[in-house]
Amino acid sequence: MSERDETKVVEGGRRPEWTGPIVNPPVHRASTILFEDCASLKTGTGRNADGEWHYGRRGTPTQWALAEALTDLEPGAEGTMLYPSGVAAISVALLSVLKAGDDLLMVDSTYEPTRVFCRTVLGQMGITTRFYDPMIGAGIADLIGERTAAIFLESPGSLTFEVQDVQAIASVAKARGIVTLLDNTWATPLLFPAIERGVDLTILACTKYVVGHSDAMLGSVTTTAEHYAKLRRTTQLFGQHVSPDDAYLALRGLRTLAIRMKAHEDGALKVARWLESRPEVARVLHPALPSCPGHDLWARGFKGSSGLFSFVLDGGDAAARAALIDGCKHFGIGYSWGGFESLALPIEPASIRTATRWEAAGPAVRLHIGLEHPDDLIADLEEGLTRFRNTRG
Ligand SMILES: *Cc1c(COP(=O)(O)O)cnc(C)c1O
Repeated sequence: MSERDETKVVEGGRRPEWTGPIVNPPVHRASTILFEDCASLKTGTGRNADGEWHYGRRGTPTQWALAEALTDLEPGAEGTMLYPSGVAAISVALLSVLKAGDDLLMVDSTYEPTRVFCRTVLGQMGITTRFYDPMIGAGIADLIGERTAAIFLESPGSLTFEVQDVQAIASVAKARGIVTLLDNTWATPLLFPAIERGVDLTILACTKYVVGHSDAMLGSVTTTAEHYAKLRRTTQLFGQHVSPDDAYLALRGLRTLAIRMKAHEDGALKVARWLESRPEVARVLHPALPSCPGHDLWARGFKGSSGLFSFVLDGGDAAARAALIDGCKHFGIGYSWGGFESLALPIEPASIRTATRWEAAGPAVRLHIGLEHPDDLIADLEEGLTRFRNTRG
């Protein structure tokens, strides 16, 4: 397998025994898989690995090819498990490393459903969650207790974009025998190869950049040899399965991930820098801009930036913000991101946090910059800021 990511996303998982003479693996729809005889049924069942025929729930070459291609992007990883959504990937990953009585350290800037999962499902199981400041770095050592079994990171946070010191936290954790999990959806392994940087389990909402076309939902967890068998077993016991059609769409998206990420990066930087120059904007939260908390860590640890960032308006209220967003021609209003199209979302980070306070000069907007021409997006936002100004008064 070649060295560079651009080549890996094109070639990953394309084993001749899975694809035959065709460029892409076929969509194998399967529940029952037939065996020659009782003896091969017995050996087949015993070999629990991708590439071994067993039953539809353990996948077919369509899912195996996607998992293998994702593993190839993470140097040092042993394998990847697939899930029907990013949230499913997060919850099963947590359940694979935690048990009753354990204590989990969770970053305060995390994706909201992750928070709710900890408070509800993990809480009912007798697992405590303590939230920590995303900028804590090696100071995480002071929070570690007798029962701390795992530390969950999301870097940057997908609403407020604080960049965490992943390497410092991972090395403190490793020294104390604590497992680290990272939600790496913003960066993907192309911008942040998490396993190489010391993380134990790295999670992607493939729904976003891997699928890339807003037409399928999927998640993945990639991990090291130390944690793979447990993750695989837990995943299978929870009956997690991804349809071959969705795996196919994700694989198709993956083939163009490298060039799409570059285009998202260029477009987002242009829009972010323009917003930073505008008097109606108090702050732009983009890891590649020096004003972003953790920008230095981004510059040291990441290979680039993606298309998602936020900005804070200077004064105004929710109605003035709605005037900006509602009249936009090129920005859709809706959840998710990572597709080819641009999106604008009103966000309320202050109401979500518990360990830290999030204060801002005005309401905030999260943008996903799609693959449209950035100058068209800027023109759209320029009119939006005029509507904002007129409504704000
Ligand atoms: C969207 C998202 C998820 C969840 O992914 P789904 O596929 O929507 O379940 C998890 N983490 C982050 C950072 C996300 O943006």
